[in-house]
Amino acid sequence: MHPHHFATKAIHAGQQPDPVTGAIITPIYQTSTFVQSSPGVFKGEYDYSRAANPTRTAFQDNIAALEGGRHGLAYASGVAATGAVVHLLSAGDHIVVCDDVYGGTNRLFNRVFKQLGLEISMVDMTNERAYRDAFRDNTKLVWIETPTNPTLKVIDLEMACGIAREKGATSAVDNTFATPYLQNPLALGAHIVCHSTTKYIGGHSDAIGGVLITDDDELHTRLKFLQLSEGAVPGIFECFLLLRSTKTLHVRMDRHCANAEKVAHHLEAHPAIERVIYPGLESHPQHALATRQMKAGGGMVTVFLKDGLAAAKRMLERVQIFALAESLGGVESLIEHPAIMTHASVPPEQRAQLGISDALVRLSVGIEDADDLIADLDEALR
Ligand SMILES: *Cc1c(COP(=O)(O)O)cnc(C)c1O
Repeated sequence: MHPHHFATKAIHAGQQPDPVTGAIITPIYQTSTFVQSSPGVFKGEYDYSRAANPTRTAFQDNIAALEGGRHGLAYASGVAATGAVVHLLSAGDHIVVCDDVYGGTNRLFNRVFKQLGLEISMVDMTNERAYRDAFRDNTKLVWIETPTNPTLKVIDLEMACGIAREKGATSAVDNTFATPYLQNPLALGAHIVCHSTTKYIGGHSDAIGGVLITDDDELHTRLKFLQLSEGAVPGIFECFLLLRSTKTLHVRMDRHCANAEKVAHHLEAHPAIERVIYPGLESHPQHALATRQMKAGGGMVTVFLKDGLAAAKRMLERVQIFALAESLGGVESLIEHPAIMTHASVPPEQRAQLGISDALVRLSVGIEDADDLIADLDEALR
């Protein structure tokens, strides 16, 4: 196929009509094994579904095309995908991790992999000097997330991946918040892109999953070996749901971004709000970088309430359209309190250092009517 634009790839990449029936949609190949004609002789790459399954292959090829990479591998969850990358390393290796990563990523690195003999340094990657200084002779991996969660810091991927290459380390970027529609880390020098497909890629709050994408043949071969050996693969129905979801990713993201921008502008002028963080606002500390690196500001908005925890709790209890829930990236708007909910597993001292205060509220702006969302927030803040 020609190098098509995003929307065309979203709908067509990795998918051919079913060769037997002509079905336009890739079927749910709900099978664990495949019949062989002679010992060791099977059709294409399919002998057992942990190793490969046609529905999974179609999804993997589709998402890889959207990130501009040649290889995609799907996992049972975003953290399973993250773990697979770390399993490329050996005890004694050192990893530089962005200080403001997803709470579950923080827990995985500091409470699981540290015990297995990996060295972990967490650093503010918006500070190039501090980032450079974090490298050691045994640094093998850099784990980057941008925009970060929940303080929406934007990290310069060209800088961060460039320095990792210079130091001989593999760079992996968690692109969950931006999605391949807004930002393509491989084009900016990353070796591996990671997504929790549970969020925007799935987009309908009905499936848990993760994916890794790379353009590097050797890394892909090693990751595919780990995918087969560890077996943290997604169910076949999940792959079907995800393949259905990627077809509308660009349409949903346009609306998520437009709605989030309206909500961010509105809240920035609201008397109950101390501060709004949104990469699309001129007041964002890395607004110029965000504009250069991302197609739009994304669907996440973080706010600090003037009256702290009491005001935050009151707002979260009073919203009617926004649902009080963890997670993000679905068509429905969600609101949550990171210090008590998503980031409770981050130690309190570290939370304080990252600015995740009790006054901080995180919004995942959905694709409902923007005026209704704004009216709901206004009512909850009254
Ligand atoms: C949710 C999330 C993860 C973990 O994904 P799961 O699918 O919940 O395992 C990783 N990174 C980011 C940025 C996330 O939002």
